[in-house]
Amino acid sequence: MRCRKDIHRGTRQIGGNLIEITHPEGARLILDAGQALELPEGKEDRLPETLDTSRPATVLSHAHLDHWGLVAQLPADWPVMCGAAPARLIAASPFDKGKLPHRLTTWESRSGPIPIGPFTLKPWLTDHSAFDAYMLQIDGAGRRILYIGDFRRHGARRPWSMG
Ligand SMILES: [Zn+2]
Repeated sequence: MRCRKDIHRGTRQIGGNLIEITHPEGARLILDAGQALELPEGKEDRLPETLDTSRPATVLSHAHLDHWGLVAQLPADWPVMCGAAPARLIAASPFDKGKLPHRLTTWESRSGPIPIGPFTLKPWLTDHSAFDAYMLQIDGAGRRILYIGDFRRHGARRPWSMG
């Protein structure tokens, strides 16, 4: 069996991403837990009901609210990983105010492949308006998935020369 990919949100909107990768042995990765950019006045965004929060998962994100704004709603014992600079930006964000209950673990901008249970993560530094943003290459059970995040082909940095 191969890894399964479930896109809970983010295909019909900009931001608010939440993607789940499930290994055939049961381990899960959540790629972003983002807040919707456009909400009716006074309405609070919530995690999609399609996400199973009864089983632990590792969450990976970058430092724009539409990619991490719902992380605080995830169980506090779930591990959350991101780049070192995004972790500092999230901690300093007026939207967090130090309330995120999760302990963030970080990678450096030129990290090699990082084992996460049965998965291997390779973060690829890429150009974006968020400092220290990444594409995430996930390998597991014979399948490779590239989550491009907020990849763009313009800006000060060219994406493929930054490994
Ligand atoms: Zn972004």
